Amino acid sequence: MAQGCIFCRIVEGESPARKVYEDEAVVAFHDIAPQAPVHVLVIPRKHIPSVLELEESDAPLVWAIHRAIREVAQRTGIAESGLRVVTNCGKDGHQTVFHLHYHVLGGRGLGWPPG
Ligand code: 5GP
Ligand code: ZN
Repeated sequence: MAQGCIFCRIVEGESPARKVYEDEAVVAFHDIAPQAPVHVLVIPRKHIPSVLELEESDAPLVWAIHRAIREVAQRTGIAESGLRVVTNCGKDGHQTVFHLHYHVLGGRGLGWPPG
């Protein structure tokens, strides 16, 4: 657990979250400020600051995240209609929480390119 990390606090159950799915490696919960009818964050339990800090030994975790994304899509009813998976990284990527997370967005047509 990283000191002062809000997502580590959610993993530890010290901060509340509306969970959609969880397993031994991953937790998925509704974003507090949804940008689409479905906006879920999928995070590893392990504190990894961003997508750039993943290592080869995290390969099973990367699979677990993608398995969880599919599960979230099915549970929230957007698997058929479509979705977008986003991980923001660094200043230009508009990352604000430095615990790796994947936004799962859907429930409406999403613009492209992103703003
Ligand atoms: P980022 O900008 O780092 O890609 O995304 C961080 C996301 O986390 C934002 O969409 C923000 O609304 C969400 N968020 C920040 N703090 C909390 C929290 O305490 N609970 C939940 N559920 N979402 C949060
Ligand atoms: Zn963390």
